[in-house]
Amino acid sequence: MLWLAFGPFHAMENQVLVIRIKIPNRGAVDWTVNSGPQLLFRDVLDVIGQVLPEATTTAFEYEDEDGDRITVRSDEEMKAMLSYYYSTVMEQQVNGQLIEPLQIFPRACKPPGERNIHGLKVNTRAGPSQHNSPTVSDALPSNSLKKSSAELKKILANGQMNEQDIRYRDTLGHGNGGTVYKAYHVPSGKILAVKVILLDITLELQKQIMSELEILYKCDSSYIIGFYGAFFVENRISICTEFMDGGSLDVYRKIPEHVLGRIAIAVVKGLTYLWSLKILHRDVKPSNMLVNTRGQVKLCDFGVSTQLVNSIAKTYVGTNAYMAPERISGEQYGIHSDVWSLGISFMEPLQLLQCIVDEDSPVLPVGEFSEPFVHFITQCMRKQPKERPAPEELMGHPFIVQFNDGNATVVSMWVCRALEERRSQQGPP
Ligand code: ATP
Ligand code: MG
Repeated sequence: MLWLAFGPFHAMENQVLVIRIKIPNRGAVDWTVNSGPQLLFRDVLDVIGQVLPEATTTAFEYEDEDGDRITVRSDEEMKAMLSYYYSTVMEQQVNGQLIEPLQIFPRACKPPGERNIHGLKVNTRAGPSQHNSPTVSDALPSNSLKKSSAELKKILANGQMNEQDIRYRDTLGHGNGGTVYKAYHVPSGKILAVKVILLDITLELQKQIMSELEILYKCDSSYIIGFYGAFFVENRISICTEFMDGGSLDVYRKIPEHVLGRIAIAVVKGLTYLWSLKILHRDVKPSNMLVNTRGQVKLCDFGVSTQLVNSIAKTYVGTNAYMAPERISGEQYGIHSDVWSLGISFMEPLQLLQCIVDEDSPVLPVGEFSEPFVHFITQCMRKQPKERPAPEELMGHPFIVQFNDGNATVVSMWVCRALEERRSQQGPP
């Protein structure tokens, strides 16, 4: 089943793709494409040109799961859109739902004229009829995905997340505390990540953990992993969160700086959000930074439940390479300590080795990385906690500012490419 995690794009390769071109206030035109993954950006513009002949269309948009519009202006962005779309198709298939067409919204420079409903001819590329003629459809409300999110929220509000409704699939990884599984939540049809931790604790402590986890329902940031619920069964707790198809950053090899910059900004925003809720992350490290093929970056495994952290610590006592020196020497932990871990998370593992409490802070080799990046990391990793940048200084740092452009495509393309590479190295499932 590994392909499920790595290759929705390939699995859907032979699927007929229906693109629903939405026309402002006037319904939609459906266009059937027989070879979706090979589709080029200019093919789509050509067809839009036929649907809206009087408008000059230079780009189009699609909606993500949250209803946010994402602009497509290039083949790269097309690929990210298709990859996102195929992952939603996969979800719909798993749920036995009707496959929704891919809805796009042309962005015209000039106001669109009358659309050509009848006699549309689409001939975007030479060769055997790759694309069939578009047909006019009574655009059905296409929100099954949103509906399923809403359903999930309802289920959660009723506290219905339980073991019976969950079908465990692949193992995503093991940590010091437990094991994370990819799982299918039957009532909502959602794919989840479920972390299962063995804890031999009293019922009283179990209740305390559950109440401490409550705050996670209130966490609402696109930089923080979505929390769906938690439950105890015998001596183990299952924590259900949003599944991220790109996995964690620790498995990616050298990340180019322009991608890392976009990841760093998301991590800084996620941390700033947690700090604003008076939550310290306490475990900032690459394996707790998750990415997906939509280019989103989200933090997970933050220490929201003291009791849970303590209970895990009883079975596992240790330090890790990302911990701030003051933490290793048992001194007070604060926002500054999260900032240290943030800095060190973005360094190459080789430089990590020299990170010993008594030595000077590690520095990045100048020349290999840009000056703002080296400065950012150096500031985060000042030995004296108080000398490290405060949250607002992090956000205002030139390295962060230059990448604060909301460009998810850069990350999305990088995740997609890395997953494809990994898949081709692994061979067929
Ligand atoms: P530690 O136990 O010290 O925190 P860790 O973060 O590597 O170490 P886990 O938190 O148990 O361990 O996670 C194991 C692996 O599961 C992670 O490295 C990550 O690759 C994967 N994983 C965790 N959560 C998710 C998720 N929501 N979506 C996809 N993959 C996930
Ligand atoms: Mg983790």
